[in-house]
Amino acid sequence: MATEGYEKLVKDLKKLRLGCIAEMLDSYAKQAVSSNMTYLDFLELLVTEEVRYKELRGVENRIRGSRFPVIKSLNDFDYSHNGSMNKRKLEEISNLRFIDNKENVMFLGPPGVGKTHLAVGLGVKACETGYKVLFTTLNDMVCVLMSSMADNSLTSKLRMYVLPSLLIIDEVGYLPVSKEGANFLFQVVSKRYETGSIILTSNKSFSEWGEVLGDNVIASAILDRLLHHSTVFNIKGDSYRLREKRKELVKEEKKEDN
Ligand code: ADP
Ligand code: MG
Repeated sequence: MATEGYEKLVKDLKKLRLGCIAEMLDSYAKQAVSSNMTYLDFLELLVTEEVRYKELRGVENRIRGSRFPVIKSLNDFDYSHNGSMNKRKLEEISNLRFIDNKENVMFLGPPGVGKTHLAVGLGVKACETGYKVLFTTLNDMVCVLMSSMADNSLTSKLRMYVLPSLLIIDEVGYLPVSKEGANFLFQVVSKRYETGSIILTSNKSFSEWGEVLGDNVIASAILDRLLHHSTVFNIKGDSYRLREKRKELVKEEKKEDN
């Protein structure tokens, strides 16, 4: 092919957003000639590469857009640390059918037992599968919605929390929430009720939510909607962080003794 024709082809491929094919065209064309490929096999090779590239980029974009504070994988979760963790129940949740069924997942337990790890692990898996996910702490969500009142962007900000297939609300209970904050949580939960999944983590038992949200009536209205279609994990045990730290300290002590 003449240089001019080749350059136009590359330009057109880019116009059609087939950047991967444009990039690989030269080397793949040489490969096709040397291995005597049919036209259809050559086309299939190029299209497969473009699809793989787009899928990979889609996953990366979705993970970036989800605003995870850290990336965690369900595969790295150590069940032996935590006798109370029901592995089979978690494996069932990991198939992500709860997202299609618009159901919720709640991780309850004291600090350091892996609630955020599991929520992010499920979120990352959801991104890899093609779902749109958004991660927030309750406090951040309340701050965003509260400040949206000032510039009249409440409707669009609410949409941001309502539209994703999966919304992760982390750290319910660490900080007390104002009455307006509890109202915002109610709005988000009721707009997502039976229309989109929520994963929520909390260090407080449900009976303490009235205190956390400063209002027993709103707390029970929120819980009513959250729990109607939900799977609850009550994680007990020691903090993983502290256990790891303790192990390090014991190692250091042993080194010093030797
Ligand atoms: P929580 O949200 O319950 O306070 P995190 O999920 O933030 O706890 O866990 C604290 C740290 O310990 C994180 O780095 C997390 O990856 C790790 N961790 C907690 N539990 C486990 C576990 N069972 N297996 C592996 N890592 C864990
Ligand atoms: Mg946490």
